[in-house]
Amino acid sequence: MAVQKRFIAGVICPRCAEMDRIRAWEQHGIRYRECVSCDFFEQLPIEDEALPELETRVNREREEPQASDLQTVKILDPKA
Ligand SMILES: [Zn+2]
Repeated sequence: MAVQKRFIAGVICPRCAEMDRIRAWEQHGIRYRECVSCDFFEQLPIEDEALPELETRVNREREEPQASDLQTVKILDPKA
C-alpha cells in the first residue's frame, strides 16, 4: 500500500522553476509527479515495455562506434 515517493535530482518544476522539488511515484500503472514548493501535479501513463527496449538500443549504439565509449558505458551501467 505504501507508495514510495522519491525526488528526481536535477528536475526543474515547470510551474515555480525550483530545482530538486519534484517528487515522483508510480501507482496503478500511472506515474505521478508533484512539486513540493508549489501546487504542480501531473500524471502520466507508464509504458513499461518501451523503456527497457530503448535502453538496449542506446547501449548497443554506444558500443559500436568507438572503443573509448566503453568507459562511459561501464560508468553508466551500475546506476541504471
Ligand atoms: Zn513547483
